[in-house]
Amino acid sequence: MSQFPFQGEIGQPPLPPRVWLSRANVPPSLRDFATPGLVALQLQDGQIAQVLQQAEFDARPASDIPVLDLDGSTVLSAFVDAHTHLDKGDLCAAGLAPERDLFAAIALVRGDYGHWSAAELERRMDFALRTAYAHGTRALNSYCDWSQPEGPLAWRVLQDLRARWAGRVELVITSLASIAELENPARAATIAAAVAEGRGVLGWFVYPGAPVHLLPRAFELAERHGLRLDFHIDEHLNPPRPNLPHVARLARERGWGARTVCGHCCVLGVLEPGERDALLDDVAASGLGLVSLPWTNLYLQDNASDPAHGGRRTPGRRGLLPVHEARARGIPLAFASDNHRDPFFPGGDLDPLQTLALAAMAAHLDEPVRDWADTVTRQGAAALGLAWDGVLRPGAPADLVIHPGRSSVEVVGRAAHGRRVVRAGRLLAGAEAAPPDFRELDGLRP
Ligand SMILES: [Zn+2]
Repeated sequence: MSQFPFQGEIGQPPLPPRVWLSRANVPPSLRDFATPGLVALQLQDGQIAQVLQQAEFDARPASDIPVLDLDGSTVLSAFVDAHTHLDKGDLCAAGLAPERDLFAAIALVRGDYGHWSAAELERRMDFALRTAYAHGTRALNSYCDWSQPEGPLAWRVLQDLRARWAGRVELVITSLASIAELENPARAATIAAAVAEGRGVLGWFVYPGAPVHLLPRAFELAERHGLRLDFHIDEHLNPPRPNLPHVARLARERGWGARTVCGHCCVLGVLEPGERDALLDDVAASGLGLVSLPWTNLYLQDNASDPAHGGRRTPGRRGLLPVHEARARGIPLAFASDNHRDPFFPGGDLDPLQTLALAAMAAHLDEPVRDWADTVTRQGAAALGLAWDGVLRPGAPADLVIHPGRSSVEVVGRAAHGRRVVRAGRLLAGAEAAPPDFRELDGLRP
């Protein structure tokens, strides 16, 4: 029996094609049996061949399959990042400054579209995909700002990248157009047709005070083309007048809940508890899924100036949707990255494990790994409608993230360090196991 080689990048032995990973801490939500305690996973030819409780494994007859003793290390399925904006990612490296306000950031980026070239988009987005892959991400949804009815330049670059990255990161591409586009039926039909042709998801930005009477048209277009629906919605804290009830009602009435996802929903966090609970009951009845984006929403929400204190004021409200209340009702819930290093958010690195660690502190998740690991794996897969569901069971691909932490405390305390990524039974090594160097983005825009 050999100790799993967590330390050191040089001289990493490849995993044997047949191997047992014993004494693995797999969260209950990522297995298909409920028995607590450590497990042993047998990997064979890129797949999971068996999952046994550790006691069963210890009692089995001797075999010649090598065993790597994980000594209680945490094993997760590879990650799903259900909400990112690769088209805007790393715009800070292109010289854009972060804004501290959602609508100011939107205006700044719109004004920058004219500088976007295919070469720059590919460079920024490929950098992002290499980063996500190194962190252990298997599938990722990127929005694409929809600046022209037939589809913007970034849409075409994302299509190329989807093909090039197939088998490493499953790239889901979602249009992001203002709900006001639905005012013009011909224009809206052109958008939906382009999204359908590009095998994307039909996404809309529903801003405060948006013309929600147009929402049925979004559902009609989705139904006509058989598209999944996605809404950026209620990303604000004031006034507490949510648009989510309209989407929940339509999703329920039209039976489209399982194909509908709503991201942000920050205003739910400041609703009066009775109104919040009634709305969450409606969301649960509709079957739609929610995505919470702690990085950007902690940064952008309640981020205001105060002339009395040198221009800055400490935020008091968090901008998180009520995740405990949502989970208590069985509402599908994922955490995801959202923006990275752009005018919306000057941080982030497309790492779902660090996102979970942040959510643990921001939303007070007591056992983030044991009880919430599915929010960055299974729930993300469900939100994107993937064929792979993220459960570590026989027959599933051997796509794993192994972290040396043995508990929520140890994993969250050192989330960024020490993980090993296994894809199709192969341990990532060398350049693909580390996020790319930021210096690669130097000179992005002459
Ligand atoms: Zn977003």
